[in-house]
Amino acid sequence: MAHFDVPVLIVGGGGVGLMTSIMLSEYGIDHLLVERHDSTSELPKAHYLNPRTMEIFRQFGIADSIYARGIPLRHMSKVEWRTTLAGDGPFDGKQLFEMECFGAGDSTADYRRNSVCPPTNLPQLRLEPLLLDQAQARNAEAVKFGNELLDFTHDDQGVTASVRHLASGEIHSVRAQYLVGADGGKTIGPMLGINMVGPTKIFETITAHISADLSSWWNEGVIISHFLPSGGRLVPMGPTWGPDSQEWTAHFAVFPGDPVPDDGEIVAKIGELIGTDVDITVKKISHWWAESVLAERYQDGRVFLVGDAAHRLPPTTGLGLNTGIQDVHNLAWKLAAVLRGYAPPGLLDSYGAERQLVGLRNVEWAMFAAQNHLAIDAGFGLIPFPLPAEVEALIVSGFFADGVVGEARRTRFRTIVATQCIEFCAQELEMGYAYANGALVSDGSASATGDPLGQVYQPTTRPGHRLPHAWLEHAGQRLSTHDIAGVEDAVVLITGSRGGAWLAAAAEVAEKLGVNIATVHIGTTHHDADGHWGAVCEIEEDGAILVRPDNHVAWRSLSSDDQPALALAAAVEVVLAR
Ligand SMILES: Cc1cc2nc3c(=O)[nH]c(=O)nc-3n(C[C@H](O)[C@H](O)[C@H](O)COP(=O)(O)OP(=O)(O)OC[C@H]3O[C@@H](n4cnc5c(N)ncnc54)[C@H](O)[C@@H]3O)c2cc1C
Repeated sequence: MAHFDVPVLIVGGGGVGLMTSIMLSEYGIDHLLVERHDSTSELPKAHYLNPRTMEIFRQFGIADSIYARGIPLRHMSKVEWRTTLAGDGPFDGKQLFEMECFGAGDSTADYRRNSVCPPTNLPQLRLEPLLLDQAQARNAEAVKFGNELLDFTHDDQGVTASVRHLASGEIHSVRAQYLVGADGGKTIGPMLGINMVGPTKIFETITAHISADLSSWWNEGVIISHFLPSGGRLVPMGPTWGPDSQEWTAHFAVFPGDPVPDDGEIVAKIGELIGTDVDITVKKISHWWAESVLAERYQDGRVFLVGDAAHRLPPTTGLGLNTGIQDVHNLAWKLAAVLRGYAPPGLLDSYGAERQLVGLRNVEWAMFAAQNHLAIDAGFGLIPFPLPAEVEALIVSGFFADGVVGEARRTRFRTIVATQCIEFCAQELEMGYAYANGALVSDGSASATGDPLGQVYQPTTRPGHRLPHAWLEHAGQRLSTHDIAGVEDAVVLITGSRGGAWLAAAAEVAEKLGVNIATVHIGTTHHDADGHWGAVCEIEEDGAILVRPDNHVAWRSLSSDDQPALALAAAVEVVLAR
């Protein structure tokens, strides 16, 4: 029996656990990750990686390798609704609606003004091996697949766990100061008696991972194709992208009361979507339940829940893995600050205070976006379900009919299907999440009303919000405002051309509190490359903004302060819970 003594034990080697390992390694925090499987996920699962998640990958040096394998933007600029992909029938192969999506088409400039990072699409079965390589490259000894956490206890001093090495059956003990439960909700939350609140069996979903040559029919820019009236969706899974994708997933929902199709019937349904004879090789068919649940608490003493362990939601809007990566982005710097000794353990209480509300919003949004597909079905005329085949046929022919009623049907459908922008164009939802309470100092300003449909992202430096991206020039280099925080820095202070007093204050506070404060003096050390920073910073030239390592604003002073060192010290102390 071996014994491991590490600062952090991570349970689970899915995308979120592996990313926790990468972040902790970057912060120089030793840890052990145990994953019961021998290898990463065999299922494609999550594929859409939103701009905020890509910013996080960029911060930790892995975005380029993800973009290199992910889908090029030109192949993910549209989602569409069709009757079938192909076929000879009078209504086969017809496109019903096409929507620009994910800031990959005409809205690219808008997305790119707000973020250095475009989104991408890379299924988990290709992302996780990449994350595993990156985690092992940073700390090969830390990542142990084929090891299962059996049980654990925790108290004021730390966590004691037993882990079984599955190949040998040997049981090892682990002593850690903190435990991160990235186990998808299988182990840690249930052992702590943490309830998941919300419906767990909304509808059963079938995902078939197939290989097929659909290149003759798949449209160049399309990332997701929905089919009406049959109700499934097809998504390319690479590894080559665009129409030449070799692999695909087909998804079908089974609504309560409907019979669950067997594998043969599922293959027949895929054939119906495609609408013509194509060789299909089924790699894997999985059945899973769409849930909409949130952990009643994210922390229990020295144990933290992240990713699917904290929230599980329908895949609409692709918020599952993205929210999980964003959870650990919030937690990792806090663990590092506490373990390095410049913040007390109380800082960690802000993790749940900040992330649980974001989790709640995303769980509710994903459910809302899933339900909206029923509105689209209704907009096509397909409610109530199931309809007799001859009625469905009349609805389809009626949709394409000449005349007043046909035009009315098409107009109604276009009006309703356009509301699915809540899933496919949700820039504000993806990038605008903010914290109201936690490791920050509110400045009392009113929060912007926001776009109710989650589309229009409004950059702001209001405390709790993501620091707006803007290009800066520094020593002949072009940097994003997001590139400033270094792994050794407790916080970053940004000030304007008349903010010299804040720089002196930062040096004084850093010395007094024993923390690194990186400084950016716009107009002197750094220059606003294209005027965008000036447009979004919301402070005067003599104001200051304090930024956390996760690029969320912690505090700001809109202009100068009579006692800048006192004001800054007070802010840093609140932010670091000192
Ligand atoms: C069809 C589908 C499509 C999706 N699409 C998207 C999308 O486009 N975008 C998106 O963001 N999300 C999407 N999701 C959701 C996404 O897949 C999940 O949110 C994500 O996998 C969660 O990652 P995780 O690391 O938290 O948990 P998991 O991936 O579940 O990993 C948890 C790991 O913990 C391990 N484990 C559990 N207990 C123990 C133990 N006792 N000891 C050791 N190891 C243990 C498990 O073996 C597992 O490997 C989709 C999901 C599905 C099913």
